[in-house]
Amino acid sequence: MAETSSAQPGDHGNILVRFAEVQKSYDGISLVVKNLNIDIADGEFLTMLGPSGSGKTTCLMMLAGFETATHGQIYLDGIPINNVPPHKRDIGMVFQNYALFPHMTVAENLAFPLKVRKIGQLDIEERVQRALDMVQLSDFGGRRPAQLSGGQQQRVAVARALVFDPKLVLMDEPLGALDKQLREQMQYEIKHIHENLGVTIVYVTHDQSEALTMSNRIAVFNDGIIQQLASPEQLYEAPENAFVAQFIGENNTLRGKVSDMNGTTCKVTLENGQSVDALAVNVDSVGTETSISLRPERVFINPKTNSCKNLVEAQVLELIYLGDHIRSRVNVCGHDDFIIKVPNSADHTQLKPGDSVQVGWHVEDARALDMHAA
Ligand code: ADP
Repeated sequence: MAETSSAQPGDHGNILVRFAEVQKSYDGISLVVKNLNIDIADGEFLTMLGPSGSGKTTCLMMLAGFETATHGQIYLDGIPINNVPPHKRDIGMVFQNYALFPHMTVAENLAFPLKVRKIGQLDIEERVQRALDMVQLSDFGGRRPAQLSGGQQQRVAVARALVFDPKLVLMDEPLGALDKQLREQMQYEIKHIHENLGVTIVYVTHDQSEALTMSNRIAVFNDGIIQQLASPEQLYEAPENAFVAQFIGENNTLRGKVSDMNGTTCKVTLENGQSVDALAVNVDSVGTETSISLRPERVFINPKTNSCKNLVEAQVLELIYLGDHIRSRVNVCGHDDFIIKVPNSADHTQLKPGDSVQVGWHVEDARALDMHAA
């Protein structure tokens, strides 16, 4: 469990947001956010990712000022903000339901945050046009929200959150109401806007591919606790616990108990009695109940060389042709839901269900994780 996670100096510069020992309870009994420590760097795109009810929105609402922390402090640019009302925090916000003013035109919607800030009319017109250009709606200023598609409305919402040049923009499932194709297109648009403007974005989603596409770092939430805070690549390649391994990407698990420790690796006796070697990630003693995490593309069927230290007998159960790879379901060590992504090469087109094969993997690709550690 990563309780304290600092932004990396040099990656993005100074710390813009700090959650320091923040807790939140709505009912005075149970904590929905438990001792949150997180530093968000100026210019970073940080995503809070996790299942529904894990505390992500609550964290965002505390940062926005719509909820108050039960314990701890939140800092913006080094200044404690627990007692600063939302409208004085100067934060841009985008939510799932657009929240545009229906009786105003698009241009009036964009001008609103500028008028509130007493910006001069000429300046307003220029900034509104720039914001419209940024979201590719240059000619839509005169329309009302109801005359726009869902995707266009959400672009206006993004433009409105950015039009007053805030240092920080919060987005809570902003693409949740859009269909898949539009959602993916908007992910790239938001990512490019972030790269071009250098604004800091804190983004909430339960969709891992959205998080992986856009973020510099992802905080994986479960049960009010950050399970791991890392780059998309680190989360996928080196999950620190069983929850993260299961939540990010596709994963095979083999259950067993540690039977021998050997420095950074360990031997695990599986439920069916077979013994395999794995990287000891967060297990450190013999007897620990373990789930070994293995990515489907890191397992080989009938490996040609002896490079795989772990070799076990397996049976092919199902093969699905997916163009660039063949998705194979095999029975490995008593598990019949074990998935292997086999590259589409001539060698493997002969495989068929029922075949007995050898399956192998490198020790460093098998991560032994404590089944009971958070
Ligand atoms: P997420 O964004 O990860 O789905 P939330 O922060 O919305 O999670 O919710 C975390 C927990 O807090 C949930 O159990 C939810 O039911 C509870 N919760 C959220 N908002 C309120 C509220 N206004 N009053 C009471 N409980 C709430």
